[in-house]
Amino acid sequence: MLTVSIDSAAITIPADLLPSDGRFGCGPSKIRPAAVDALHRAADTFLGTSHRQRRVQDVVGALREGLAQLFSLPDGYEVMLGNGGSTLFWDAATFGLIDQRSLHLSFGEFSSKFAAAAKAAPFLGDPVVLESAAGTRPGVDVHPEVDVYAFTHNETSTGVMMPLERPAGVAASDALVLVDATSAAGGLRWQPHNVDCYYFAPQKSFASDGGLWLACVSPAAIERIERIAKSGRWMPAILDLSQALDNSRKDQTLNTPALATLFLMNEQVRWMNDNGGLEFAAGRCDQSAANIYAWADASTYATPFVATSADRSHVVAAIDLDGTVDANVVAKVLRANGVVDTESYRKLGRNQLRVAMFPAIEPGDVAQLTRCIDFVADALRS
Ligand SMILES: *Cc1c(COP(=O)(O)O)cnc(C)c1O
Repeated sequence: MLTVSIDSAAITIPADLLPSDGRFGCGPSKIRPAAVDALHRAADTFLGTSHRQRRVQDVVGALREGLAQLFSLPDGYEVMLGNGGSTLFWDAATFGLIDQRSLHLSFGEFSSKFAAAAKAAPFLGDPVVLESAAGTRPGVDVHPEVDVYAFTHNETSTGVMMPLERPAGVAASDALVLVDATSAAGGLRWQPHNVDCYYFAPQKSFASDGGLWLACVSPAAIERIERIAKSGRWMPAILDLSQALDNSRKDQTLNTPALATLFLMNEQVRWMNDNGGLEFAAGRCDQSAANIYAWADASTYATPFVATSADRSHVVAAIDLDGTVDANVVAKVLRANGVVDTESYRKLGRNQLRVAMFPAIEPGDVAQLTRCIDFVADALRS
């Protein structure tokens, strides 16, 4: 690798190559300006008002209904929410959804964390953890003794996506399928009948802020939540999914939520539904992914990190650079030019750029980003 000391501010990307919006981070991610404008217009009557009153409850209700519409949830499925983000949901699921033993596909930073939470729980048996190397995903083995299969729709740390299916021959009455969809939800397609609990947070494809978790739960998952809560297993109130379920049914949360976060997320869900629903949102991600992977495939110095093209995520692209270009310097120069958060996942330690392609991000801006990267790479090598 050429180690030249470069003043990143000294490389100016021509204006005609720059994207219309320079935010490509994987979360918090780009929020559409129209949603922020709508929040501003609603500020005087919405922000700073009680979350136990209709004005806020109506937004929570619209959000729950909007998600049910976006995902075409079948009758009997419900949308739950609470505070704490997806990381809290792993602990809540450890207390309230795993009966005795879980199985986890572990193929990156995020998927490994739920497995670790289940392993640490003294009231559960040791989980089965199926691992694979970064940039790949493990296959699913059926283990009759597990009562939860834990999948990750999109492993945000590596840019690997997986199709969601029930393990062969396993019914929801035997084992629940739990899916961490934090970065996938709203950007990738899935069929609700294949999943019992599809959980996520607002700061990725839903173009809002962090701090909340949301979950689409099947009748079998609801039955499990209620049964475990009644079993007498001790659990902290903030992690008790039965209390979250009771509150969600009243369009509330157990404790005070961030109102702006709810509002912005509802705006994003409405934008998706008004424009054609999940097909529209996922279609934008498909277009962005086509733009970046076609560029990387044709590039002399950039390569998609994920070797199997069907596993390459349509919401998060990880792009390796060869030894002629330092990805950290590229990200730094981009940042100095207003194009931010393209750094790779820190713990992966590769010469890599990582680019979010969530629905709010313009596919044309992803194409412009590739032109910016080429410009910077040329400037660094000359
Ligand atoms: C971002 C992310 C998380 C963590 O979400 P928080 O809301 O910050 O807890 C978990 N899983 C995946 C797949 C993610 O992308």
